[in-house]
Amino acid sequence: MKGTRLYSIFKEKCPVCQEGEVFEGRTYNLRKLGKMHTNCPHCGHKYEIENGFFYGAMYVSYGITVAASVATFVLSYWLFPDQSSWFHIGMIVAVIFILAPVTFRISRMVWMNFFSHYDPEKAKKHE
Ligand SMILES: [Zn+2]
Repeated sequence: MKGTRLYSIFKEKCPVCQEGEVFEGRTYNLRKLGKMHTNCPHCGHKYEIENGFFYGAMYVSYGITVAASVATFVLSYWLFPDQSSWFHIGMIVAVIFILAPVTFRISRMVWMNFFSHYDPEKAKKHE
């Protein structure tokens, strides 16, 4: 799996060397939620390529949220067909809320991987 964008995205590794961590804490470590290293600890790649770079990740985040909402609605309606619309809406809100830290991180990883690609030479380098 190493060398593919999926590896970088789901392992939350630097998109260039796929060795260095991108985030400081684990996903549900709320104290460090969203805290990122400025540069890759392994190859030195600057994660925020330009100012405001990560605003673009909001589009990815939006896409994930819509997909998760549709999936939750279908599942909720299938499991609890007799419940009211408000029940299903409540389920969607709960799922979006619970998944928010995951969505935040995955969308940034996806966004970074749009603009950077794996470089095996950088992976080898040790500073
Ligand atoms: Zn790196």
